[in-house]
Amino acid sequence: MLDDSHRYLMNTYSRQPLVLRKGRGIKVWSADGKEYLDFVGGIAVNVLGHCHPKVVVAIQKQAQRLLHVSNLYHIEPQIKLAKLLCTHSFADKVFFCNSGAEANEAAIKLSRKYAKEHFDEKRFEIITALNSFHGRTLATVTATGQEKFQKGFEPLVPGFKYVPFNDINALRSAINKNTCAIMLEPIQGEGGVKVPSDDYFKEVREICNENGLLLILDEVQTGMGRTGKLFAYEHYGITPDIMTLAKGLGGGVPIGAMLATEKVAASFQPGNHASTFGGNPLVSAAAIATLETILEDGFILDNCNRMGAYFIKRLLELKDYYPEKIVDIRGKGLIIAVELTGDGSPIVKACLEKGVLINCTSGNVLRFTPPLIVEKKDIDHLIDVLEEVLSK
Ligand SMILES: *Cc1c(COP(=O)(O)O)cnc(C)c1O
Repeated sequence: MLDDSHRYLMNTYSRQPLVLRKGRGIKVWSADGKEYLDFVGGIAVNVLGHCHPKVVVAIQKQAQRLLHVSNLYHIEPQIKLAKLLCTHSFADKVFFCNSGAEANEAAIKLSRKYAKEHFDEKRFEIITALNSFHGRTLATVTATGQEKFQKGFEPLVPGFKYVPFNDINALRSAINKNTCAIMLEPIQGEGGVKVPSDDYFKEVREICNENGLLLILDEVQTGMGRTGKLFAYEHYGITPDIMTLAKGLGGGVPIGAMLATEKVAASFQPGNHASTFGGNPLVSAAAIATLETILEDGFILDNCNRMGAYFIKRLLELKDYYPEKIVDIRGKGLIIAVELTGDGSPIVKACLEKGVLINCTSGNVLRFTPPLIVEKKDIDHLIDVLEEVLSK
């Protein structure tokens, strides 16, 4: 199996030597029958765990009724999903696509169009943060403020400018008459789970208001309950003009969304933007089931907050034990990071050998994005394994 994987798939990922076949809740099983505790969760995708019965049944039912029709027609599950998203967010309108990068691409296009209509032709610059991550298409990799992702693909898309994250003065100085939008993650995910100071986004919002700029929040990783609220912007007491979602939105199926206020959304008219599969019946049904389950009785968000706090407490204990190995513990809800003094990949490997899947980002940051249904005993088990691994 691994031989064929290396032979037939393009070499774009450095994968662990592990073939996963089955999943339930927070557990996954390999092709050779070994059990693993999954603290990666598809990188913030499997919010309800693997194969949540409500999502599975919704997909089964929809698959029997209608898999796909063109966006030339109205689509029942897509309409229902859009209404649900708008009811539970700042937004008035939704555009559906298939991934985070596509959602951000749509946000970039919409904000350029909006600025041209409301200001002038030259107003197309978007300010993003250094160390950010917005996707791998040419425009979104340009928006991504990390050279390592851009190298080799130049010339990049014009009209992007970068400032340090969580630095309000740098942001203020970067604005000029050609700026059209500011695009940020509420918490930088791939960049190492960087949580901004409490008042940062309030000030960003003010700057946007003062200068007529759109605030685009990339909630591809932080949305869908990941931080303990349905959307991370709710923590900051502000609302964006545009928000993008993907990862957790479909509970495991590929769907992305770009949400906006009525005023901003009005700049998209028929023919301006489209996606063949965007919001198709199958993925919309899965996303409805995911969203309804998160909202159902408050359990998921409550569990995310309680388990997140417990997880951080246990990690801080670990840091006290290994101050020479652990530099920092940070996160919100169930997006949590352990910053190490050294390379994180040997730790990831050692945990895998002991039956626990974790992820490392930015070289030395262990990132945990488990399903939001994770239990205390799972966290205790992970901490035991980490402790064993760090002691060596
Ligand atoms: C993962 C991610 C993306 C890209 O999503 P894809 O579905 O891989 O295109 C964009 N923005 C953020 C914040 C992400 O975490």
